[in-house]
Amino acid sequence: MGDMKEIRTTAVVLAAGQGKRMCSSVHKQYLLIKDKPVLYYSLKAFEDSIIDDIVLVVGEGEEDFCQNEFMGKYGFHKIRSIVCGGKERYHSVANGIKTINWECDYIFIHDGARPFVDGEIIDRVFDEVKHHKACVVGMPAKDTIKIADEKGFVAHTPDRSRTWMIQTPQVFERQLITAAYEKLLAEEKRLPAGGVCVTDDAMVVEHFMNMSVKLVYGSYRNIKITTPEDLKLAEMFV
Ligand code: C5P
Repeated sequence: MGDMKEIRTTAVVLAAGQGKRMCSSVHKQYLLIKDKPVLYYSLKAFEDSIIDDIVLVVGEGEEDFCQNEFMGKYGFHKIRSIVCGGKERYHSVANGIKTINWECDYIFIHDGARPFVDGEIIDRVFDEVKHHKACVVGMPAKDTIKIADEKGFVAHTPDRSRTWMIQTPQVFERQLITAAYEKLLAEEKRLPAGGVCVTDDAMVVEHFMNMSVKLVYGSYRNIKITTPEDLKLAEMFV
């Protein structure tokens, strides 16, 4: 197909969190679901998908273990780089993006703690991002969401038909997400410690790039393993 340029995609899979809410000495991405680590499942989904390359972001000192485990034992050949994460999630994302020095048009940012991303979700969000440049996966909220004030009282109640629970992957044009994170890191330097509270990537694009982010259906199974009961649920899903 001579003059048709192939679209290249990279997934940045985050596994550098401490998992404090899991109350376990083993980091949650290495806990087992059936007989495989949590992190195995999302790497497997990307390995078997349209994604070309994977960057794995891990905790300091865990690089060799992850190389042996995921590139060696499980043979995920799309993993092109394993890098060390940072203090907050957004530092880990920035480190992951920085390491991409190969051809790449779209970046898929994914929580390694979400084992149940699958090929259908990856294909769906890939189709959408080609039109919208910035997409996040999520699902309509089942419960009513309330915004609290500082004292623990209800401040207001958004219309439930418009509330979504946001998941990953979050997918962006490479230049867009790279520029957004550069702006965030520059801004962070100007602020006092603890001055930025960033919990997902879409926020960075919304705030610094003044861009609309398209919501795309994920699935209700695409949970994040956060507390011990999530692991029980995960065992049932496998
Ligand atoms: O803490 P949270 O549940 O938002 O973490 C979501 C994902 O980001 C997890 O997969 C976790 O390993 C990762 N993370 C990271 N670096 C951090 C904090 C979280 O890679 N500093």
